[in-house]
Amino acid sequence: FCHSTRIFHSLRPEFPVPPPSQPLSITDFAFSLLPSAASSNTVLVDSVTGQQMSYSLFLQQVKNLSSSLASQTPLSRGHVAFILSPSSLQISVLYFSLLSLGIIISPANTLSSDSEVAHMVRLSQPVIAFATSSTAHKIPNLQYGIVLLDSPQFVSMINGLHGSDKNRGSDRVDVSQSDTAAILFSSGTTGRVKGVELTHRNFIALICDFYYSRQLDMNGEERRVYLIPLPLFHVFGFFMLISSVALGDTIVLMQRFDFEGMLKVVEKYRITSMPVSPPLVVALTKSELVKKYDLSSLRTIGSGGAPLGKEVAENFKAKFPNVEIGEGYGLTESSGLATRMMGPEEAKRHGSVGRLQNKFEAKIVDPVSGEALPPGNKGELWLRSPTIMKGYVGDEKATTETLDSEGWLKTGDLCYFDSEGFLYIVDRLKELIKYKAYQVAPAELELLLLSNPEIADAAVIPYPDEDAGQIPMAVVVRKSGSNISASEIMDFVAKQVAPYKKIRRLSFANSIPKSASGKILRRELIARALSAASSK
Ligand code: AMP
Repeated sequence: FCHSTRIFHSLRPEFPVPPPSQPLSITDFAFSLLPSAASSNTVLVDSVTGQQMSYSLFLQQVKNLSSSLASQTPLSRGHVAFILSPSSLQISVLYFSLLSLGIIISPANTLSSDSEVAHMVRLSQPVIAFATSSTAHKIPNLQYGIVLLDSPQFVSMINGLHGSDKNRGSDRVDVSQSDTAAILFSSGTTGRVKGVELTHRNFIALICDFYYSRQLDMNGEERRVYLIPLPLFHVFGFFMLISSVALGDTIVLMQRFDFEGMLKVVEKYRITSMPVSPPLVVALTKSELVKKYDLSSLRTIGSGGAPLGKEVAENFKAKFPNVEIGEGYGLTESSGLATRMMGPEEAKRHGSVGRLQNKFEAKIVDPVSGEALPPGNKGELWLRSPTIMKGYVGDEKATTETLDSEGWLKTGDLCYFDSEGFLYIVDRLKELIKYKAYQVAPAELELLLLSNPEIADAAVIPYPDEDAGQIPMAVVVRKSGSNISASEIMDFVAKQVAPYKKIRRLSFANSIPKSASGKILRRELIARALSAASSK
């Protein structure tokens, strides 16, 4: 902490990052780090089909697909490709191929409803989509149509069966690090879903962080076998995939998450490490199923995406004394990571989310006075680093509200640092609800509720839940004369949104409390909901 500037700096050792002016894509950078000895290692395993892929085959398929896309499609640098598919080996190859050509990837949750997909497509403006036979029907018409990932055409593109080898060399594209690499979806601090623009530079800096931290952590000796039970469209799954490839690790993918299925995969593939969301840690601690499987290969678990809770971490440690459980914190807008625990000593700091990653600066800003505060004081966390987003695509207003002119990202999280640089998340100042680490934007559900002719006003708030962390709760004012029931309203919403956004609790009110400027007073509603529940 620097007393004169009131800025917190990373305590990690400095590491080099390629000069920003050097043309470089995420793909080229990740592959350049990969040790040559890794070529025979397994890079990817599909835990459903059992299909496995070596690094040399992966690199070959990425080359084949890049050549095919460059020679057989009108796609070029700067175009956006919308992706709607469960995690698979092909998706991983597709990500790296598109990135090598400077084509922007925009992956979305396969559970999204048609209208949610339409909203995301309006934001990211793709010219083409990649989908599967089961998801393609949700995608509107695009300039270059939809490529089906399970079609023979795509399979032959990946396998280089179209004679595209001849063209190799001509399809090299100079990608600038400042080019947008991905548009990922997040609601940010307020309002509806937005498209977060992340650059090649953002992820190159992140890969460097993982690469050099690993060397410090384990002297570069050990390869990990990761299970990624997270979707690859979320920033957490996305950066795990690209950084694991650069490190030469093995990644086991799960198409659809189920708890017992996950335990089976850990046993079968001798998984050493898993990024997880907090509900999974709770399940591992509580479920009797855990006893049925040999989980002795597990060594490290990294939790993130939502608060873990000190007690949950301690209970986990009591049940799995040989597994190091660390917590990390970040946002889509920071390429997914900002702080984490590194090594067994830091992992003992249950309740904190670790220390600032390399090249990160932070401020704790008093939400009222705007003043930066010293250690031990609570305020909004502001972050600055090479991994911070370019902005929200096509939304200058939201961008300037979130990113200031000096490059500080306002996180909307209420936090404090202790004197040793450990960060603690106290509360969320922003509207965002996290259901099992999935984002639910209250504004989106409120708009839907208001579209119902029987509803006069509505607000959506987070309600605490042991398994999910939080559930979306609606407070509804009915139009006079309406007798619409809670379950009718919940069904009305459920039909139009992805299942994780469903309203799971509802109460009726005579009015919604609002500030003078018309903002919903969510804290007041939350307090009312909690006191109503406790007086029952
Ligand atoms: P997302 O963009 O979906 O990753 O959501 C980012 C938000 O999730 C952060 O701004 C926090 O509010 C919350 N979050 C992420 N990780 C943690 C954590 N370890 N503890 C508490 N909240 C977290």
